[in-house]
Amino acid sequence: MSIDSLTALIRTIPDFPKPGIMFRDVTTLLADGPGFAELVDRLVNVARPLDVDLIVGIEARGFILGAALAHALGKGFVPVRKKGKLPGKVVGIDYVLEYGTDRLELHEGQVPQGARVILVDDLIATGGTALAAAQLLREQGASVLMALFAVDLPDLGGKTALEADGVASQALIV
Ligand code: IMP
Repeated sequence: MSIDSLTALIRTIPDFPKPGIMFRDVTTLLADGPGFAELVDRLVNVARPLDVDLIVGIEARGFILGAALAHALGKGFVPVRKKGKLPGKVVGIDYVLEYGTDRLELHEGQVPQGARVILVDDLIATGGTALAAAQLLREQGASVLMALFAVDLPDLGGKTALEADGVASQALIV
């Protein structure tokens, strides 16, 4: 299946979650069997050569793609969650949003010092979320090999922001 066919499976919902925002909804792609399989296979092709120890997924759609990728590679999966969701002792990082701040958390000790990790999310927009997650992983002593996304919205500059911070990234659909 071509990238164009995968792209066609993503729908755009206007004015979500706020007026003026064109939300790229990947649930329509996930709900398509051949499309989901193709998407995961393509993520696997990017990740397999990288000698990765752990896949880290960002809440919430990063869990879906990250878990599928981890399974295909035979590696563990670790979730990065929004504030207050993880039951164990956590480490966290605050980051700035358009309005206000938010916090990402990780179970303490779940990403070992020196671990080679790939960060996964469905979409990169400004890059703020992925940048915060990458910083949190680095604070744990992990090496972030790459941030990997299904979709990039390049006009919002996320890939450039990650690069400026030394985080390599790749997106399948640009
Ligand atoms: P960023 O931090 O501005 O790069 O926004 C990326 C985060 O917001 C990711 O966790 C995405 O899942 C989510 N996000 C932002 N815009 C969209 C969208 O249009 N579709 C799906 N998710 C989005």
